[in-house]
Amino acid sequence: MDNHTLEQRRRNMSAVKSKNTKPEILVRKVLHAMGYRFRLHVKELPGKPDIVLPKYKTVIFVNGCFWHRHEGCKYASTPTTNIDFWNAKFAENVARDKKKCQEIQEKGWQVIVIWTCEINNTAALGERLKMLLESK
Ligand SMILES: [Zn+2]
Repeated sequence: MDNHTLEQRRRNMSAVKSKNTKPEILVRKVLHAMGYRFRLHVKELPGKPDIVLPKYKTVIFVNGCFWHRHEGCKYASTPTTNIDFWNAKFAENVARDKKKCQEIQEKGWQVIVIWTCEINNTAALGERLKMLLESK
């Protein structure tokens, strides 16, 4: 007898696979609800993008505000201890993101970055994604 609900099982799975984070899954749900088809973690593209829409030649990265330094965002705070360590770490992340985006754009793909703080408003997120995808 399996007492696990679907929701529990999903939670367990996402705890194991750090790739499929909750914000990423939410973005996928929004896309799916609008009828968009996508691929996940495409190795052939620089930085192995989270979500790829081949038909629209668009990749989507779902970035955590803290680690990826969402500019002006309240979640992108800097810890008050070990400041040098954090600043070096953050600079490294930002530089890596920038390089990744440039490399993908050079291949003729559109890059959309979704910040985790933007995800709760799924209606607005859906509108924005649609606009970006249809204008490509
Ligand atoms: Zn943010």
